[in-house]
Parts: sequence; structure tokens; C-alpha cells
Amino acid sequence: MEKIKCIGVLTSGGDAPGMNAAIRAVTRTAIYNGLSVKGIMRGYRGLINNEIVEFHSDSVSNIIQKGGTILRTARCPEFTASEGRKTAYDNMRRAGIDAVVAIGGDGTITGARIFAEEYNIPIVALPGTIDNDLSGTDSTIGFDTALNTIMECVDKIRDTATSHERLFFVEVMGHTAGYLALNGALATGAEAAIIPEMETEDDQLKTLIDNGFRKSKNSAIVLVAENPKTGGAMGLAERVKREYPQYDARVTILGHLQRGGSPSAFDRILASRLGSAAITALQEGQRNVMTGIRNGEIVYVPFSQAISHTKKLSQDMTDLVRILSI
Ligand code: ATP
Repeated sequence: MEKIKCIGVLTSGGDAPGMNAAIRAVTRTAIYNGLSVKGIMRGYRGLINNEIVEFHSDSVSNIIQKGGTILRTARCPEFTASEGRKTAYDNMRRAGIDAVVAIGGDGTITGARIFAEEYNIPIVALPGTIDNDLSGTDSTIGFDTALNTIMECVDKIRDTATSHERLFFVEVMGHTAGYLALNGALATGAEAAIIPEMETEDDQLKTLIDNGFRKSKNSAIVLVAENPKTGGAMGLAERVKREYPQYDARVTILGHLQRGGSPSAFDRILASRLGSAAITALQEGQRNVMTGIRNGEIVYVPFSQAISHTKKLSQDMTDLVRILSI
């Protein structure tokens, strides 16, 4: 096995608060262990376009508290084609990079897996996404901060919902996963969460109305995961207008607000631990793994498991939203 001397670090896909803390931890742990570091700008696009910069300890000074990513991020369709990955590989070798730490979500890890297999490159990934939809880790970097942002926004919506006695659908991000919606509902005392995981089992809107919106309450807040399966907040409000016209339904879409802001203490600590563990993993000879956290302990999760979408939302949590909103 070739000895690793130089690490390339990149952030890819959707940005998430805490990515900077992760870049800092990767860079400083690598330097601490005698490795050199290069920052790859704009995710896989930077590898293809040869946007690679020398990183030193002070390259990551004063960033732990900042949202976004100093390396920038991008979606790069060219990397899904073998010609794109060939250019990326050639540029990477020319820059003297012999291992990569990739920080991102599901797509980023899928790309890392293909790239690593194709060129036999050591790659370790970090779960960087607000969606928390990667398997094998209890939390992803950015999820906690996004959840806190949602909580603050919903608290404000609650004031007006109560005053006007309205039904509010608040749409949160979530792609294919209801973690933000469900956890956000618990944190804000929302009346329900409408999530893609439940959509096949239940008409969640009907259940909400049948379960007594207006029996004991004059206002309600429902968190909805953005997803074609749930219909999103707009789709649900349309349905209320058609099927339950007696209710005054309103929509708030939180959108990109959820990605911004200074990372929470939880995300900074998580990112620092996972970033540092990525360097340890590479030095131990680990390949094709994502660093994750389970019950407070660092774990190495094979890429195939990380992107398997097998992490289940807890039924207890969905029950709890219902129980606590009577
Ligand atoms: P988020 O969860 O926040 O959306 P993500 O990492 O899932 O983040 P994507 O846009 O899905 O974001 O993926 C990021 C990048 O990973 C893509 O733009 C592309 O460059 C690369 N990628 C995704 N899927 C593949 C694939 N099948 N093959 C090669 N590269 C891929």
C-alpha cells in the first residue's frame, strides 16, 4: 500500500452548517500527523477544472463559527461521466494528492465510491448534509443547526397562527427523508409532521383532520417535508381548500434559510470529531468508508451502507408527535 503524504479535501452537493468546522479538523489533524493538505474548490468540479490550492494551518483559521463552506460547493454532472472522472484523476495526481476526504451527502458519497473503485484511490467521506438521510450515522453535519433554525422560525409562525386561528403548513427541506419535519415537529410542539416515509401507509392530512383539528384547538401547525410524495405544503393547502373549505390554511416555505447560519455547538463538535477521524481512518488504511457517529462513538461506515437508505425513522417519534399534540 502506497504511503499517504498529501490529502485533498473537498465539499460537494448542498452546503451544510458545520462543513467549515469539518474542513478545519481534516486540515489540522492531517498537518498534526505530518501530512500535507490541498483544498479542492467547488467539489468534484474543482478536480475537473483543476482548482486546487495549498492549505496550511492558517488557511482554516477563524472558520469554525461560519456557515457555508470556504471551499465552496457545486453540483457537477460531468463527474458522473467516466471522461470527467479521468480528468479529475489526472489533475489530482498532478497536484500530488494521494487521498481524498469528501464532505457531502448521498450523491457526493455515490461519486466517491465510483471514483475510488475506478482508480483505486483512498477516499474517506464525511456526512455533510442537513437532511440526516445517510445510514450508519445517528446524525449528519448540519442537521442540528438546520433543526434549530426551523425551530426558531416555527416559534414565530406559532404566534400568528394562534392569533388568527389558522392552520399553517410549514414546508421544510428533506428530499426523501422526514427527519427535519419530524424532529422539527417535536421541538416546536407542532400538531403533526407530514413525511414521505408515511405517505404510502396513510392519508396523513385526513388523519390530522379526523383526529380533531378544531375539536380542542383553534390553530395548528403542520411540518411538511418537501417531497413529491407528500405534495409539499402548497399541495396540501390546495387539498384543504378543495376538501375542507371550512379551514383557513396558510403556507410558509422555509427554503434556503434552513441551510444558513452559524453552526450549533453540536454540529461543530460533530464535524471536528468526524473530520479528525477521517484522517485517522486513512492512516489506518481504511478505504471506502464514511466516518459516522453512533451512540456517541465514532464508527466507520462502508459507502454502500451509508447510501443504502436503510436508516429508519423511529415509530416512537411519530407516535410522540401525535400523543403530545392532543
Ligand atoms: P445533498 O444531500 O445536500 O443534496 P449531495 O451530496 O447528495 O448533497 P448531489 O448533488 O446529489 O448532492 O451530489 C453531489 C455531486 O456528487 C454531484 O453533483 C456529482 O458531481 C456527484 N455525484 C452524484 N451522483 C453521482 C454518480 N452516480 N456518479 C458520479 N458522481 C456522482
